[in-house]
Amino acid sequence: MAETPFRDLAEVCEKVASTPKKLKKISLLAAFLKRLDEDEISPAVDFLLGKGSMDVGYVTVRTAEEGRQRALDEGPLSIMMVNKIFREMAHARGKSSRKKRENLLQGLLGRCEALERKYIMRSLLGEMRIGVSEGILLEAVAEASGMEASLLRKKLMFFPDLGYLARVVLSEGRPGLSKISLQLYTPLKPMLAEMAHDITELSALGGYALEYKYDGARIQIHRGEGIKIFSRRLKEVTESLPEIVELAAKIRAPEYIVEGEVVAVDKRGKPMPFQDLMRRFGRRHGVGEMKEKLSLKLYLFDVLYLNDAVLVDEPYSKRWSILEKIAPGDILAKRIVPKDLGEAERFMEEALAEGHEGIMAKALDSPYLPGKRGKKWLKVKKSETLDVVIVGAEWGHGRRRGWLSNYHLAVRDTSKGGYAMVGKTFKGLTDEEFEEITKELLELKLSETRGTVFVKPKLVVEVAFDEIQKSPRYPYGYALRFARIKRIRRDRRAEDADTLERLSRLFKMQIRSRQET
Ligand code: AMP
Repeated sequence: MAETPFRDLAEVCEKVASTPKKLKKISLLAAFLKRLDEDEISPAVDFLLGKGSMDVGYVTVRTAEEGRQRALDEGPLSIMMVNKIFREMAHARGKSSRKKRENLLQGLLGRCEALERKYIMRSLLGEMRIGVSEGILLEAVAEASGMEASLLRKKLMFFPDLGYLARVVLSEGRPGLSKISLQLYTPLKPMLAEMAHDITELSALGGYALEYKYDGARIQIHRGEGIKIFSRRLKEVTESLPEIVELAAKIRAPEYIVEGEVVAVDKRGKPMPFQDLMRRFGRRHGVGEMKEKLSLKLYLFDVLYLNDAVLVDEPYSKRWSILEKIAPGDILAKRIVPKDLGEAERFMEEALAEGHEGIMAKALDSPYLPGKRGKKWLKVKKSETLDVVIVGAEWGHGRRRGWLSNYHLAVRDTSKGGYAMVGKTFKGLTDEEFEEITKELLELKLSETRGTVFVKPKLVVEVAFDEIQKSPRYPYGYALRFARIKRIRRDRRAEDADTLERLSRLFKMQIRSRQET
């Protein structure tokens, strides 16, 4: 079969981009995938996902585009040719790698038509802008192969390479699925935890163990012929973590996949903030120098594969006992199986006192569920709290009828003066407190409109929250998600309440801690 012209792929991108309808996008993509030769499927899928994005900055793309010259005599490009050049670019190493990439890209762009160029550049920058996510493409693969999307989605958790998955199911059909399972050196998606607001929620897990929740970066370590380390986003980070490779070599097994957290520590072994760790994690240059400045610790908490045996379906209690047998105690996460909530609470306090983020509770009978944020793992963090002022309140309904209950919460706006509303809550108070606050607020009443009483800013409450969100519904653009009152702070005056600046600082920290590689 003749190679599929790259132009066809660029045209599909254009068509898919021009329709907002998801189903239409899926059917266009499915029809296109069906036409491809076996070898072309994976490159096309990677291209559509913008996976070509490599270390090519915007500048390289621009320079290459400016320097391009049309090579008239070399016929049209095929998908395979573009793929070959992308690979060469990705493999360019060493001092002049940037120049090599620019040259390769210049050669490629010189042979392109405008439409082809548009999508080559977007794919290289990792911004296809055609409204196709991995989820949509997966549905297209399902449609093209006649298989259920749910089944493919499950497979993808164990083997997160949609290009390979598409190739196997489109060329081999259902029997090909057996090829796709957990494999050494192909990281699987990490299992995630839901938030528990309070330690009492842990009882819902049934039997559970607690582990410290370390504030670092999640890693998966694979050992077969050699040791490779992958980040939570499944990128390889081995080069940046030489001492973790050394520690992993101490695990007593020839082949394994284990999971854990890497934490940066200071000279006395105290955990350092996440941002410090990010100065080392995923770094390629100056690793030796940084190693001197910042030490790392490893805390393992799971084993997913051991000497040919896939362990993900085994209960967590069994996986942990296997891990304990093969790994030295000093690289294991601290863990207990608490007798009661009292012991759980003490464990949490200990974790916080040692400078960690909180604790993780894990159901003893749970399999490892890759890519799932489920109820089998719960995280309990020390929540940041804010001291906010009540500036208004709504009359309650139902059980809270007769009380002012949904409180409008505000922080101080030090630049403009006054108070900035950043959320509402009716959570966290006892009936007596509701009654008390209702009386107090009525004494501070300034005005009332449609069930809302506006009050003089005086009463300060300490609130916990899950997250600070950007929200256009609030005048200052910030909103506290799931705010709940921890305490009424009669010891504080409105002038002592937290400020918009602190809120924006906390918001930035939140963003930063999500930038894990
Ligand atoms: P979060 O990012 O807040 O959803 O919390 C989940 C993350 O906590 C995981 O991805 C790990 O990086 C980290 N973590 C720290 N300690 C543990 C632990 N003992 N078990 C599982 N995850 C942990």
